[in-house]
Amino acid sequence: MGCGAAAPTPYFLTTSQLVNIHGQLILIDCGEGTQLTLRQTKAKFQKINIILISHMHADHTMGLPGLIATMSLLGRRTSLNIWGPKELEEFVRRTWYLTGTHVDFEVKFHVNSSIGPNVVVDSESFMITSFPTKHRVPTCGFVIEEKEGVLSLKGHARKDYNLSHLDIQILKRGEDIVKKGEVIPNMFCMEKPPKCRKYAFAADTAFSPKVVEAVKGCNLLYHEATFETKDLDIAKKTLHSTSSDAARVAKDAGVNQLLIGHFSNRYRDLSQLFLEATEVFTNTSIAKENKTYLIE
Ligand SMILES: [Zn+2]
Repeated sequence: MGCGAAAPTPYFLTTSQLVNIHGQLILIDCGEGTQLTLRQTKAKFQKINIILISHMHADHTMGLPGLIATMSLLGRRTSLNIWGPKELEEFVRRTWYLTGTHVDFEVKFHVNSSIGPNVVVDSESFMITSFPTKHRVPTCGFVIEEKEGVLSLKGHARKDYNLSHLDIQILKRGEDIVKKGEVIPNMFCMEKPPKCRKYAFAADTAFSPKVVEAVKGCNLLYHEATFETKDLDIAKKTLHSTSSDAARVAKDAGVNQLLIGHFSNRYRDLSQLFLEATEVFTNTSIAKENKTYLIE
């Protein structure tokens, strides 16, 4: 939803990503203007039930009070769960209070400690864990991982077999269903993921062996790549990474694909960042707003 660092520009907004796992939508970070990209991409953002915030810096949080206010304005009534630093709830609620904003649904804030790895969400079909990164303020990255053997609905099945909510519940248990006296075998509607896929969002961080350890074996790793190597001094000072650092993490952790983002506003042309990353790790993509990346 946003791939830039520090401040929104006419070229890109700040950090935010929407992850779709088995039809569940998870928002990671919420920079200013995230709701605009959510609307442009026609994402069903009222279906977001989980929001993960990596750290308190403005370019990762400024969009959150506004996004939730819009959800309420558009009639949302289902609750929303948010995990983030301990200061997050006060920031969001205080903003609503001072701006006279009413939110007509339940928003539950959960403090996510950045001291060590944590299990954030353990659901039927996937697990979210967090891990600390190396940044100027307490910061966490997240790993979202599919669970083994979980059946998921084939893309066309709901329409083809006119499945009700109850049908889907039965199918998820691995049983067949009966429609108008006819048995529909489970395998017609459901499939097992070929393997358990794993996505890691490494948040804001300087190069860190701890991050390498936390993202080992991921199918897709998102790693920030704020600076080119010529600006290494600023990267070190601000505890950010160069694209070559990001690629080193991908290589050392043995991931399949690397996605780089959180680009500094000082670069109009991202080709040098891309070049420096691919010199170390070939299977690298540049994050772009409004773009979907398949995890395989
Ligand atoms: Zn930051």
